[in-house]
Amino acid sequence: MDIEQKEQLYEGKAKKVFATSDPDLLIVDYKDDATAFNGVKRGTIVGKGVINNRMTNYIMQMLEKEGVETHYVEELSDRRTVVKNVKIVPLEVIMRNVVAGSLSKRTGLPEGEIPSMPILELYYKSDELGDPMINSDHALAFGWATADELAVIEKTARKVNDILKKFFAGVGVDLVDFKIEFGRYHGKIILADEISPDTCRFWDSKTKEKLDKDRFRRDMGGVEGAYHEMMRRIGLK
Ligand code: UDP
Repeated sequence: MDIEQKEQLYEGKAKKVFATSDPDLLIVDYKDDATAFNGVKRGTIVGKGVINNRMTNYIMQMLEKEGVETHYVEELSDRRTVVKNVKIVPLEVIMRNVVAGSLSKRTGLPEGEIPSMPILELYYKSDELGDPMINSDHALAFGWATADELAVIEKTARKVNDILKKFFAGVGVDLVDFKIEFGRYHGKIILADEISPDTCRFWDSKTKEKLDKDRFRRDMGGVEGAYHEMMRRIGLK
């Protein structure tokens, strides 16, 4: 691709973002750094950047084929990808098919309980505040998204869940929950950020073994092995 990498714009917990010679495009560079509990727990998951880059790109391309517009443009290397330069909507959208993590803590329901329908949650993206849970009224009242944008975001999040739940079931994995983010791009809302074992809960369908970042969060060991196993399931190696 005919673009040049320019200055670093931002370094986050798991990725660096660079400007390019095209103002409409950015380059993301995935790191092996891992954090949890809003940055309190830190570590390295060897090879994670490569896995998250390649898995995200695979999933974004699958979603595009199903009619979901995403920020994906082109994979440049194992860790680096060209994406559209979106303005991120300051909301984290979580879809849940199985009770786990903070939902289990908040409700007292055991991890593994299956709700009667997928649950969509909104969180306000703010590291200082620890990403507090909000509802759509907060998002509208404080101008974090318009009503039209929220409608697109919620409809797309449910569609992404339907597609991914089916896809992962086909490779013997329960999609327990996941977080996605959206961006504004030339007047449209499109899917952005990553979809990886850092941002999803994956359980082996038969054994319910955890194949995601919970192994890091909960000091369970076998973190790298779980990330590699997810790549193998998807057929990426
Ligand atoms: N998640 C994420 N980033 C966040 C918070 C959550 O990617 O800042 C993902 C997490 O990996 C899980 C889902 O969103 O797949 C639901 O997370 P939960 O609310 O249970 O929070 P946690 O237990 O991870 O604190």
